[in-house]
Amino acid sequence: MKAEKISIVIPVYNEEETLEKLLERLRPVMDSLDRDIEAVLVDDGSTDRSLEILKQHAGQNIKVVELTRNYGQHAAVFAGFENCEGDIIITMDADLQNPPEEIPRLIQVMEEGEYEVVGTLRKGRKDSIFRKIPSRIVNAATRRITGVHLSDWGCMLRAYTRPVVDYMLKSQEHSTFIPALATSFAKNVTEIEVSHEERFAGQSKYSLLKLITLHFDLITAFSDFPLQFMFYMGLLLAFFGAGFGIVLVVARVYFGADWAAQGVFTLFAVLFFFVGAQFLAFGVMGEYVGRIYREVKKRPPYTIRKVY
Ligand code: UDP
Ligand code: MG
Repeated sequence: MKAEKISIVIPVYNEEETLEKLLERLRPVMDSLDRDIEAVLVDDGSTDRSLEILKQHAGQNIKVVELTRNYGQHAAVFAGFENCEGDIIITMDADLQNPPEEIPRLIQVMEEGEYEVVGTLRKGRKDSIFRKIPSRIVNAATRRITGVHLSDWGCMLRAYTRPVVDYMLKSQEHSTFIPALATSFAKNVTEIEVSHEERFAGQSKYSLLKLITLHFDLITAFSDFPLQFMFYMGLLLAFFGAGFGIVLVVARVYFGADWAAQGVFTLFAVLFFFVGAQFLAFGVMGEYVGRIYREVKKRPPYTIRKVY
């Protein structure tokens, strides 16, 4: 199915050195597509000249959205989603690490395969090793959490269909990770290889702390693992305590009263058991908290593609 309109959503945070170049490369790509196409650039509370530059370029197919302060990349992309009209929505970074020239292929793959989400795999990723190793771990974790086998979750050059974006907007989530949220509403998901470039100018806008926060969002938004971990931990400890108790009773019968250090061991067994029971109680409480959390997020429990 050929999309009527295409939107390209780009979050911008202090990218004054790159913006001119970005638009210079984006324009020919947009023209070459020969379709109704818009670029939505979201200024995520930049403190440099980014907004000024963007405003100069705002026009008929370039929309500029100004946020009041810095909310983070994913929140900025959401603001772009809310302000775009395309049937296919593409997200990409402003720093030219994702070449705009890959956009036509992304659209082509999406339309030919009738995919709902097209992800990308960065070929020859140009980032430091300190960036790549954590990514590896996160990618593996995300595959487990979402059950979707994409190999690169971090690359934001991605395409989504309108229904997927609408469902994302409908879920009232404030801390989320867009690529994972999108695949939770889609069945036909694929991934293509795209080239990756050095950052055109400036530095990564992610400090270590910001990166950790983002991944914490990913884990807490898509899995109850930390809560369940508590429950299983408690179960294990309680079993251990009870087992230890049994061993003590048996040994006491065999070796007599002197053996068990005058009851100190017994105290340990009792302690283990109670600590375990406490963890278990926390775990049960956690399970309820998790359910409340899920309700609060108001993520649609199911999503319909079509009624025949
Ligand atoms: N970005 C943003 N708000 C932020 C941090 C980043 O809008 O708080 C934008 C940034 O301008 C860029 C994109 O998100 O367009 C990706 O950021 P960056 O290139 O710094 O991340 P990295 O490539 O290092 O993952
Ligand atoms: Mg980048």
